[in-house]
Amino acid sequence: MKDILIATKNKGKAKDFESIFGPLGYTVKTLDDVASHLDVEETGSTFEANAILKAEALANELNTIVIADDSGLEVDALNGEPGIYSARYAGEAKSDDANMDKLLANLDGVPAEERTARFVCAIALAQPGKETVTYRGTCEGVIANERRGEFGFGYDPIFFVPAQNKMMAELTPEQKSAISHRGAAIQKLRADWDGLN
Ligand code: IMP
Repeated sequence: MKDILIATKNKGKAKDFESIFGPLGYTVKTLDDVASHLDVEETGSTFEANAILKAEALANELNTIVIADDSGLEVDALNGEPGIYSARYAGEAKSDDANMDKLLANLDGVPAEERTARFVCAIALAQPGKETVTYRGTCEGVIANERRGEFGFGYDPIFFVPAQNKMMAELTPEQKSAISHRGAAIQKLRADWDGLN
């Protein structure tokens, strides 16, 4: 059995990867399963750059295959903000509620047709001795005026997905994985996988 380390402690993210790589014969591990004390600073200016920083640092330290992701929300009316700063949009406390409050306040008075946005996910695959590759997935939507739905995390309660006619937070984890930015990036990696090994 070969191991793949997913550079996250988020069980939901790890599950998305497990459903792809488990059937291919890999054991999917997360940061909770390994003894790494690395605290990689996300100093890149793009989602891809930050994903590469995380994946390569861990692959070098642990000499194993690592997949890292970096994701966020781009709002057109705010010139792509919060972008790579999505987690800490309202400050270092990284509060989902405070982030949503700030976003809704910044979009106050902006009409529905101008509230277009997308979630973006870049994943980087780092393998010892091989060149790192990245994949990007996106999910288009519209920022609503108020919260709705109980699933998910982050900006999901205010992200309306026209293709599903539902808020992201109204989709079950399986439904979300099928249409999400992260799901799309993982599918691209999967499509390339056989040629990468
Ligand atoms: P990270 O890539 O885990 O650091 O996520 C960055 C931030 O982007 C999160 O803290 C959320 O605020 C936002 N974000 C990324 N993906 C999603 C998602 O699927 N739903 C809601 N918010 C997300």
